[in-house]
Amino acid sequence: MSEFLDQEIKFLPGVGQKRAELLYKELKLKTFRDLIYYFPYKYIDRTKFYSISQIHSQMPFIQVKGKIRSMETVGSGIKQRLTARFYDETGSIELIWFRAIKWQKENLVLNKEYIIFGKPAEFGGKINVVHPELETEAEKQLQPSGLFQGYYNTSENMKKKFLNSRTINKLQLTLMHLAKGKIKESLPSSLVEKLKLASLEKSLITIHKPENTLDLKNATFRLKFEELFFIQLKILALKHNREKKFKGFRFEKVGYNFNKFYNDFLPFELTNAQKKVIKEIRRDVNRNSQMNRLIQGDVGSGKTLVALMIILLAMDNGFQSALMAPTEILAQQHFQSISKFLEGMNVKIGLLTGSSKTKARRELHAALESGEIQILIGTHALIEDKVIFNNLGLVVIDEQHRFGVAQRAKLWKKNDLIPPHVLVMTATPIPRTLAMTVYGDLDVSVIDELPPGRKPIQTIHFFENRRNQLNNFLKQQIEKGAQIYIVFPLITESEKMDFKNLEEGYRQITEAFPDVKVSMVHGKMKPNIKESAMQNFKKGDTQIMVATTVIEVGVDVPNATIMVIESAERFGLSQLHQLRGRVGRGVNQSYCVLMSSYKLGTESRQRMATMVRTNDGFEIAEVDMKLRGPGDIEGTQQSGIGFDLKIANLGKDGEILQMARNVASDILDNDPFLMKDENKLFLKNLMASKETGFSWSSIS
Ligand code: ADP
Ligand code: MG
Repeated sequence: MSEFLDQEIKFLPGVGQKRAELLYKELKLKTFRDLIYYFPYKYIDRTKFYSISQIHSQMPFIQVKGKIRSMETVGSGIKQRLTARFYDETGSIELIWFRAIKWQKENLVLNKEYIIFGKPAEFGGKINVVHPELETEAEKQLQPSGLFQGYYNTSENMKKKFLNSRTINKLQLTLMHLAKGKIKESLPSSLVEKLKLASLEKSLITIHKPENTLDLKNATFRLKFEELFFIQLKILALKHNREKKFKGFRFEKVGYNFNKFYNDFLPFELTNAQKKVIKEIRRDVNRNSQMNRLIQGDVGSGKTLVALMIILLAMDNGFQSALMAPTEILAQQHFQSISKFLEGMNVKIGLLTGSSKTKARRELHAALESGEIQILIGTHALIEDKVIFNNLGLVVIDEQHRFGVAQRAKLWKKNDLIPPHVLVMTATPIPRTLAMTVYGDLDVSVIDELPPGRKPIQTIHFFENRRNQLNNFLKQQIEKGAQIYIVFPLITESEKMDFKNLEEGYRQITEAFPDVKVSMVHGKMKPNIKESAMQNFKKGDTQIMVATTVIEVGVDVPNATIMVIESAERFGLSQLHQLRGRVGRGVNQSYCVLMSSYKLGTESRQRMATMVRTNDGFEIAEVDMKLRGPGDIEGTQQSGIGFDLKIANLGKDGEILQMARNVASDILDNDPFLMKDENKLFLKNLMASKETGFSWSSIS
């Protein structure tokens, strides 16, 4: 590896022990490499000058040539400041310093030509600049900051010690100077040539000190490509390796159970999207390697049914299946609906959750080990070591985002011979670019069609002043037999404030609807009480369900047609969409009402507008990623992939990502273990980079 970049940052001229410690503490920068890969977050064009008459306080930055005519110190104590009048031919502005006043006074020269640079502000109708950068023409000529000056994030602690963006900029320039000719290329020259990439050295120098926009564009592209390429190479290498290493069971036969169910029991026609996905899965399970496939589909798109068909396929080939859900309620719901679907067929289904009683558990364990139970449905309890299968061939994981990669891997070991096929289902659509990274080791199927006859949910956004109108509407709908969810934000179930809101909300609802029966569920309830409240609502004994987001995932009450979300501005887009998915499951028109306060930030307003505009989970996911950035999207935290990308942005760099993935995929197709001479460099870099810390064994 490039030893030059491995040097400790304290050896860089201008750093030293103290600053090195600070840089490490605040930014985790330890080596020259860390520093060089600490990129500017923006650039300011330092070629542009303004005259004072043009300046207004909305401008982000200004650069002006002029002279200081007078200075004075005003105020005292901590309010003390130095003010200076700065003139050009068109007028004057005020420059202000709060710190290092003495130093400024001694060094500033009246009537000498300066260039000032800073952010203009307005106070009492007059323009001022606080702590401007200030230099003479000669200094600016000397100072090789390039035409565009890079800006770097720094912390308050750093600023206090004068380690600001400008200092970092200077350190980078010092480093650039030393680094010339010492930065080794990380990609093979054949690839660099083929893709017409700028060299790594040129890119790193340019990114800190761009001379023109074209160079900057090329450097940015090269560095983004490289970053995404190595992530994709790692993910795909592991995937290839796993496919080579793990054989899979072959589900060759389409037999009695599958056909019987399809022909005699299935109460409706499958959608084309469901058929397409079933075909994709059948291809996977009929090869000789383990399937790891993700089904993405909006709420209500019929994922569970697809999973059931594959479970029947496993049965036809003599294998047991496990279906794992993230919550007890969901597991029970799956158990009930699958039992109902298979009523009349000779299939034995087991249910195992945290609240299964010891005796029942023991019987179940035995029946599982003997192979009597063909389908086991449950929660995390399924993973426990005590749970031993006779011949587990398929694992279905519902609502993936609640499970980590490690838990998935644990399930693979439930069959000592060969790991079972794994089917993961998620109702949180994530943008394609993100899926390639978060679920990059999985193949992805998409159910992009809802069963026919569903009426699109109508979404309305109300401010508090429409409360009466809302209540009247709810009353009418209840008279027509509808059931209603009213959801309150309870972000962490321990927040006292939120809890009060929920209870207060409950009280107000029972007051506003005296003749209506109301249930309530929240995370603090005992499971059995929660469960019976859910059941009451499900049976139709109660008409309104007041709840927190505990009902977010998967609960299926087709008769519930209205979802009211209180303080909707406090929810993220994907959560709003999940909640909305609780309605619209039956034949009747469904509604979602977003209640919010009047005061909404731009982002909240966009969220509300997006919800009103579209029911399409993928479109919502795209907007969500643009608004929040990919790091916050659900599922990313568990992905095990460092999301502190230094330069690429999964929200914006979809094309580069696709290209990086294609290139990585081509390379691995030709050389799965990166043994060829031209690819050895990749392997070396994969092994070396701590971000993508890599070993072939990490998968097993
Ligand atoms: P998901 O798990 O994707 O949210 P489900 O599998 O729970 O969706 O399906 C939602 C509802 O739609 C269920 O009641 C299911 O029986 C029904 N359903 C599934 N597929 C179809 C179909 N092709 N036609 C009609 N209804 C369907
Ligand atoms: Mg589901």
